[in-house]
Amino acid sequence: MLGRVAQRNLTRVGKCRSSAIRGLATAAEPYDVVVIGGGPGGYVAAIKAAQLGLRTACVEKRGALGGTCLNVGCIPSKAMLNNSHLYHQAKHDFEHRGIDVSGVALNLPKMLKAKQDSVTGLTKGVEFLFKQNKVDYIKGSASFVSNTRLSITPISESESSSEIEAKNIIIATGSEVAPFPGGAIEIDEKQIVSSTGALELQEVPKKMVVIGGGIIGLEMGSVWSRLGAEVTVVEFLGAIGGVGIDEEVSKQFQRTLTKQGIKFKLNTKVLSAEKKDGKVFLEAEPAKGGKAESLEADVVLVAVGRRPYTDGLNLEAAGIEKDEKGRVVIDDQFTTSQKNIRCIGDVTFGPMLAHKAEEEGIAAVEFIKSGHGHVNYNAIPSVVYTHPEVAWVGKTEQDLKKDGVKYKIGKFMFSANSRAKTNLDTDGFVKFLTEAETDRILGVHIMGPNAGEMIAEGVLAMEYGASAEDVARTTHAHPTLSEAFKEAAMAAYSKPIHM
Ligand SMILES: Cc1cc2nc3c(=O)[nH]c(=O)nc-3n(C[C@H](O)[C@H](O)[C@H](O)COP(=O)(O)OP(=O)(O)OC[C@H]3O[C@@H](n4cnc5c(N)ncnc54)[C@H](O)[C@@H]3O)c2cc1C
Repeated sequence: MLGRVAQRNLTRVGKCRSSAIRGLATAAEPYDVVVIGGGPGGYVAAIKAAQLGLRTACVEKRGALGGTCLNVGCIPSKAMLNNSHLYHQAKHDFEHRGIDVSGVALNLPKMLKAKQDSVTGLTKGVEFLFKQNKVDYIKGSASFVSNTRLSITPISESESSSEIEAKNIIIATGSEVAPFPGGAIEIDEKQIVSSTGALELQEVPKKMVVIGGGIIGLEMGSVWSRLGAEVTVVEFLGAIGGVGIDEEVSKQFQRTLTKQGIKFKLNTKVLSAEKKDGKVFLEAEPAKGGKAESLEADVVLVAVGRRPYTDGLNLEAAGIEKDEKGRVVIDDQFTTSQKNIRCIGDVTFGPMLAHKAEEEGIAAVEFIKSGHGHVNYNAIPSVVYTHPEVAWVGKTEQDLKKDGVKYKIGKFMFSANSRAKTNLDTDGFVKFLTEAETDRILGVHIMGPNAGEMIAEGVLAMEYGASAEDVARTTHAHPTLSEAFKEAAMAAYSKPIHM
């Protein structure tokens, strides 16, 4: 149901159900901003626009706010990662900490429900924020009629379609699961699943093959491995972790996940999949060619990436350009080929990350309101929420070598950090990369417990152009894991104390 305020701004087309609505429609004022898509990019943009005094609506066709992130991405995957980790600890780790538990058993339906409860709570929370900030939430699918007019097909069949007018439009329609290249493997979301299906498996598969060793593949592979599946990750490249991971971290990460029981087949190309007798048989060959082999699985997760989503938007009607990868083309102010239409998040350039989409949402609205906005693309962190976590920001060693930059490395192992030792959780390290001449921080890479929280300090340091010495001379509470961060900074500009 559209809210009353939203209805006031709608021009209804087709059959109008009441003359009152028709009367209001004639007097409809265009919105200052209409955001298409209620994901982290879109809903944040909409709230920000309303906070800046712009009359704002957000059109979302999913039936729930929060986009991929809240509904089938960041949030449900982290719920499963957290709870599968606790289960695994209770089963395999508590005993040597002096905690005797018996009868630890998995209740998968309950774990899935706990995941769903977090999703529902958070999506409802965004709806509440819309109300609080007076953003009109329009439940429907938006399609361009012109560069200032959108037609809305409502979700509810009992409502008729309508049109709205906007001075500014922000496209935030996100991304969708990329199909397997060449269509050789079809996703059925039961036996051959995407990340969405992998969040909904109703029983733990005995054998699971994950195609793709990027962040999503490793996170979901970890979940099902902890719950008891025999997981093999097949990756075309020679390293895991996806784009942007430091090679040294990637190698150490692979060793750690291998110790946890996940098997890896790198430099391997999956060619096809065949479903037979309740199993899936994959054909794979070495990436550079060679003898093919067959892999058997109960469930296959296809995690080969995501692609921009613009289906049904009718971009042509507004004259908006896309590139060869389907990304909406924008300039450095998020403006598309139409001055009054901006675009943010997964559907345009840059890393497909929720926090990147959010930052762009705020900056795009600030450009609309005041002509100024800013996103620092050199300081966008990435996190893999496995255990240990892996997180990074800025340049990798391989980037610096490629660019011919003279750099220093400062490294500190968690095995030398008092809190990590106390917690019996010592896998990993913090690694600083600094400019040799100036000591300026160029990149921070962490593998370890809580790396995803700790990386925020690296982001802040880089945002303010800090040197390693700046960080090293900052007091860090004792005993904390973050002392490893300080010591790695000390190692970059001088020497660490505890290693
Ligand atoms: C399994 C998984 C785990 C992830 N984990 C993380 C993580 O831990 N951290 C992180 O930063 N990122 C993570 N991501 C990525 C993150 O979800 C995306 O980067 C983020 O959601 C992008 O936000 P967005 O607003 O650009 O688009 P989306 O979140 O995709 O939202 C776009 C919305 O637009 C709506 N829409 C599309 N077309 C129309 C239309 N014509 N009319 C109306 N509505 C429309 C869609 O229904 C959708 O709800 C994960 C993704 C997946 C799949």
